[in-house]
Formats: sequence, C-alpha cells, structure tokens
Amino acid sequence: MSRTFIMIKPDAVKNKHVGDILARIEKEGFRILGLKFLRLTELDAKQFYKVHSARPFYNDLCKYMSSGNIVAAALERENAFQHWRDVIGATDPREAKPGTIRALYAESKEANSVHGSDSDENADFEISFFFKGNELF
Ligand code: UDP
Ligand code: MG
Repeated sequence: MSRTFIMIKPDAVKNKHVGDILARIEKEGFRILGLKFLRLTELDAKQFYKVHSARPFYNDLCKYMSSGNIVAAALERENAFQHWRDVIGATDPREAKPGTIRALYAESKEANSVHGSDSDENADFEISFFFKGNELF
C-alpha cells in the first residue's frame, strides 16, 4: 500500500463535480485517509507549488488555486500516486484520454479540475502540508 495526495481544484468545486470525483476515488479502490474542504491563501499556494516557482505559469497558478474553495485528500491504495495520475489524465485536458477526470471535467490546462502527487516522496510532503498525523485515519 502507498499514499498519494489529491486536490479537487476551484473549477471542479464551482462546477459541482465534488460528489462525482469523490465517488470515482472510491470506485478506483482508494481508501480516504483524510479529507478537508478549504480555501488556500495565495501564500499557501506559493509554498505548496514551490517546486514550480521558476516556471512561467507559477504566479497565475497560485492566484488560480487561491481563487475558490478546494477539497484536499490523502488517499491509500496499491500504486497510489501512479494510479491516480492514470485516472486524472494529462495536464492539458485536450490531451487527456477519454474517461479521465480531466477529460470529463477540466476547463483548461490551468483550471484542470484535480491535482495528484507525482512521486511517493512528493506525496509525503504534500500530505504533511495539509494534514497533521492525528488527522489521518
Ligand atoms: N499548469 C499551467 N500551465 C502549464 C502547466 C501547468 O497552468 O503550462 C498548472 C496546471 O494547473 C497543473 C499545475 O500547473 O496541474 C502543475 O503543473 P504540473 O506540470 O505539475 O502538472 P500536473 O502534475 O498537475 O499534471
Ligand atoms: Mg505535478
């Protein structure tokens, strides 16, 4: 078993896809270890996405991620981070395979409905960014 960290981004919350995405998480065999509904400040987003700080999209991304409410969750499954990335599809929804979450719901490359950790290491960092040990079950 391994863990991953996921977010439902502001576009998907605004477009009322939270229920469908949580249902998909369970259907894909993940166990929910922790779940929060919150709004990031721009500073929170900057810290969370600091690995991207040199990228041209960084400032806009951080503004976007703090523009509305999000859902944050820690999940457990075999092959967790890779399985979730397969379920969400490519960063740009125009390149995402049919049936993936981004193909189904995303508005654009930036407003692409969901986040998923890209390694076991980053999953640990991202889970601990949002959850204290006693908030994971
Ligand atoms: N992003 C963007 N423009 C780009 C690349 C990424 O707005 O050209 C945003 C998008 O919301 C993406 C996030 O920045 O999900 C993080 O980028 P990354 O390359 O890590 O994509 P992901 O791992 O989310 O597929
Ligand atoms: Mg990424």
